[in-house]
Amino acid sequence: MERPFIVKPGDSISLNGVGKGCDLERTPEYTGAYRKKGETKKPLKKLNKQMLKLQELLYAENQHALLIILQGMDTCGKDGTIRKVMAGINVQGCDVVSFKVPSVDEVSRDFLWRAHKAVPQKGKIGIFNRSHYEDVLVVRVHDLVPKSVWKQRYQQINDFEKMLVENGTVVLKFFLHISKDEQKERLESRINDPSKHWKITEADIRERAYWDDYMQAYEAVLQKCSTDWAPWYIIPANKKWYRNLVITERIVKTLEGLDMKFPKPTSDVSILSVD
Ligand code: AMP
Ligand code: MG
Repeated sequence: MERPFIVKPGDSISLNGVGKGCDLERTPEYTGAYRKKGETKKPLKKLNKQMLKLQELLYAENQHALLIILQGMDTCGKDGTIRKVMAGINVQGCDVVSFKVPSVDEVSRDFLWRAHKAVPQKGKIGIFNRSHYEDVLVVRVHDLVPKSVWKQRYQQINDFEKMLVENGTVVLKFFLHISKDEQKERLESRINDPSKHWKITEADIRERAYWDDYMQAYEAVLQKCSTDWAPWYIIPANKKWYRNLVITERIVKTLEGLDMKFPKPTSDVSILSVD
């Protein structure tokens, strides 16, 4: 199911639902051949089982790391994806890192420093909940550094990711694409449900006013930083169940593509016996 979600270098991307580059498959409400939640349960369960086996192989072989980057607007479902997609896997082999407003320690280094420090070691899956891409998203939208600085970062990110890939890290990048209407519903449900109050801040409402600027910034990211070595995938994310299926499938296909093998035993197993 790689197509139609992968962004190929040179693709023109329009996230507002009109214009060149806006295929039906790239709209937030797309659900492929599925019509409702129940229909994806069975295939998702099967994929979760496959993922568990592949993760064990990744750990045993110890040759590759898998870095999964999740980006998207507030309420797009980054946390939910981590909960659901990773539900079946062994937590010992997986690290989740959330990128918040940089600390004093972090802003006094180059913007890639904190990302590089957090990449997974070989044998492991690392998930970035937000990432170094914030430095060309929120930073660009709010002019947190001059344009001359953030403009250079697209190339710097591509070079950084290339280096990671050349050193054994597989990089998958998912943009969780929700519509502005869907965000409104999700924000309202956070306001109306006391058990969700902890999830919402004034800042979330304030950021919504910059929706169009964010879409522009995301389009730039998708067009400039989807590379042969570290592609972006636009994930239709209005329907959580479809989002989970597409992402899990992509992770499974990627791990399968590594053609991993269990390492040879370190002892001659044929002569081992247990009393
Ligand atoms: P949340 O994901 O809801 O916990 O929010 C984290 C916040 O940190 C978001 O508003 C991000 O935009 C912000 N953030 C993450 N990285 C950066 C960055 N490099 N510069 C400024 N703000 C950032
Ligand atoms: Mg938030």
